[in-house]
Amino acid sequence: MLGKNFTLKEFIHSDTALACGISNYPTKDEINNIEQLVVNCLQPIRDYYKKPLIITSGFRCKKLNEKIRGAANSQHIKGQAADFIIKGVPLKEIINWVRKNIKFDQLILEKNQWVHISYNKDNNRNQVLYYNGMSYSNM
Ligand SMILES: [Zn+2]
Repeated sequence: MLGKNFTLKEFIHSDTALACGISNYPTKDEINNIEQLVVNCLQPIRDYYKKPLIITSGFRCKKLNEKIRGAANSQHIKGQAADFIIKGVPLKEIINWVRKNIKFDQLILEKNQWVHISYNKDNNRNQVLYYNGMSYSNM
């Protein structure tokens, strides 16, 4: 288990990886980063809303990230980022609560479809952005 409510499996599961025969398994350092993200960001969000976070994309090995055309410098590759939704909670409400209560690196509302959050213990920039699929703007 990672924290009280998360498993590594949730972070490495990917339909694309399965379909393409990519193993998508993180190294020790990458698992460490996922743990940091859970303990500092995801678990506190889970505790506040008392509802499961549905991880739509967690860790992505380089191969998987290329396959889905993720940004080459994506923090998903390092295990520092996750995309999620919470059923029944508007994304903007999550963004507003997280920005006031959680320490993070980047918090991004992506295409109004999910929340991307990252944690980097060495450099938390505290950036809140909106991504429309083409470009980023401040929120
Ligand atoms: Zn993301």
